[in-house]
Amino acid sequence: MSFVHNARRERAAAAAATVGADAALITSGVNVRYLTGLVSTNAALLVPVHGPAVLGTDSRYGGTAERECEDLELVIERDIEPMLVRRALSDGYAVIAFEDRAMTVWRFREVADIEPRPELVPLGSAIDDLRMIKDEAEIGLIARACSITAEAFSAVLDRIGPGVTEREYALVLERTMVDLGAEAAAFESIVASGPHGAIPHHVAGNREFAVGDLVTVDCGARFAGYHADMTRTVVLGKPAAWQREIYQIVAAAQAAGIAAAWPGAEVEDVDAAARDVIEAAGHGGHFGHGLGHGVGLEIHEAPIISAARAGTLHDRVPITIEPGIYLPGAGGVRIEDTLVVRAGAGAAGSAQPLTTITRELLVL
Ligand code: ZN
Ligand code: ZN
Repeated sequence: MSFVHNARRERAAAAAATVGADAALITSGVNVRYLTGLVSTNAALLVPVHGPAVLGTDSRYGGTAERECEDLELVIERDIEPMLVRRALSDGYAVIAFEDRAMTVWRFREVADIEPRPELVPLGSAIDDLRMIKDEAEIGLIARACSITAEAFSAVLDRIGPGVTEREYALVLERTMVDLGAEAAAFESIVASGPHGAIPHHVAGNREFAVGDLVTVDCGARFAGYHADMTRTVVLGKPAAWQREIYQIVAAAQAAGIAAAWPGAEVEDVDAAARDVIEAAGHGGHFGHGLGHGVGLEIHEAPIISAARAGTLHDRVPITIEPGIYLPGAGGVRIEDTLVVRAGAGAAGSAQPLTTITRELLVL
């Protein structure tokens, strides 16, 4: 993998040059992982525009870093950011780009006070943006996380029944993902039953499922650091007319959003394609969140698919499409899939689903 990380570091160096820096100081853990392969809660990376990168971490990760990042100079130190800034200054790098989305104000003040004073320039989301377009190996890992998610969801679907609590079911689902090969759940599962379904990010609690409930399950597996994200809403017992109606609207909105997601599409247009369906059905006020997001080493990453954002979809960008309708006091429906945007041979391309559970209403 080291050639992959080396190529990524070359792109990071180019990003530092773009903001006029001599070097970039990478302090976001997920970006250090992306650029080196090292998984650590305390690591930082100095990426000079011209010159070899230096990895800093503390002694707890020293052995792993030596093994997995053998092509990098390694410095072991508890306080890594000031150490790397001093190192940059002594190597003649006066202008240092820092990750202003990741560095705390406290840490910023500490490194800004180092003598001779470095010139610190914000790098913005440049490294996060490098992560947006995935290579085929990354897409393979996300696809694996998605297939584990779908398999686990199917395996324990029959556990959604009267008398079982949201929390009990969430734990069984997450345990099953691990049994099927996940390293962990990608995030704390959302299990929202009955009126709780009106709360988009309800935390699974002690409410027992009951006949007549819509139950929204938003879950995902993590595999080799990569995340899956899927939501299905099922109904316990014969669905009422209003339940079937909002389900069909959300399903149609999701289909419209998926159809609009192709390389070159603007994120606001993808959002609008789905939102128009919900608004036309009179539920515009019941769909408050954005349509979707990128998925990768983080569960939510670029691109954010929303009317409030700017951005363009590209070939090899994994995204979610997740419209919903939330009716306060009654319940809600959300349908979410992880898909990968692909350029098509000759055609405009499309978004191909990686989570493959049926999108028909499941009646339990
Ligand atoms: Zn989700
Ligand atoms: Zn999501």
